[in-house]
Amino acid sequence: MADRDGVIWYDGKMVPWREATTHVLTHTLHYGMGVFEGVRAYETSTGPAIFRLQDHTNRLFNSAKILNMTLPFTREEINAAHIAVIKENGLKSGYMRPMAFYGSEKLGIAPPKKDVHIIVAAWPWGAYLGEDGLAKGIRVKTSSFSRHHVNVTMCKAKANGNYMNSIMAHDEAAADGYDEALLLDVDGFVAEGSGENIFVVRAGKLYTPDLTSCLDGITRNTIFQIATEMGLQVIEKRITRDEVYICDEAFFTGTAAEVTPIRELDNRTIGCGSRGPITTEIQKRYFDIVQGRNSHHADWLTAC
Ligand code: PMP
Repeated sequence: MADRDGVIWYDGKMVPWREATTHVLTHTLHYGMGVFEGVRAYETSTGPAIFRLQDHTNRLFNSAKILNMTLPFTREEINAAHIAVIKENGLKSGYMRPMAFYGSEKLGIAPPKKDVHIIVAAWPWGAYLGEDGLAKGIRVKTSSFSRHHVNVTMCKAKANGNYMNSIMAHDEAAADGYDEALLLDVDGFVAEGSGENIFVVRAGKLYTPDLTSCLDGITRNTIFQIATEMGLQVIEKRITRDEVYICDEAFFTGTAAEVTPIRELDNRTIGCGSRGPITTEIQKRYFDIVQGRNSHHADWLTAC
């Protein structure tokens, strides 16, 4: 990732890609105390547009607040940085990574409160779980790692350090030949994927875990809206893994993963074993919205 042409927004300036570096004694590198987002821009008929930028920026600031980290830029400046990296890198579409981290001013558990840096990078990134995954669904395994307990790490924060848990879960699933992991909470109820929220469909209704231990996903929220428009009820509740085994359809949602059907969990076929009809319709509506084909949701798109 480091050896590329292009520019990265770094503390208010555009820096050549290869020069966007930091010292090895960077506090966040040692302890994981940082916050980030994953944002996507899509190609639309009127040029690239960022999906739900303000919501991502708001979550970034909320994550920082949870970690008691003061960000040295305003929300407006961070929004503008996203637009600028899409433009200056000449991208038609892409993934954006804003991240705030503590610098190398000192290295103890107490963070260097005044030494906070922010980057916003952007690069092309296709389907996170593969085009095939989007079309046919993916194979998932319940993880041996539990999702964070609400009073161990802060589940509403998209914090760098929280992702050690995601990485171990994904790594374990991938090593066993699965596409993704499903993490349960500490009480054994379904929480989310390593980087996605989960929905199940049963008898024409949508179910998703409440937000206790999973991230408050922006795609999840978008699905709520889509479901309402389709006349589908969404119920937030505790879900058990065997409820997923016997559901009609299941899918993951996330900025990177978009709407990815789950065709198998723990070697049990889910529903028809491919993308089900409700998932197909939700996915279609999702891509219509993000790619600017649904004028009712034009306010979710920020032109670049
Ligand atoms: N859960 C986790 C752990 C994630 O990392 C993500 C990706 N940000 C999500 C859920 C989905 O969130 P969003 O739809 O906002 O991308």
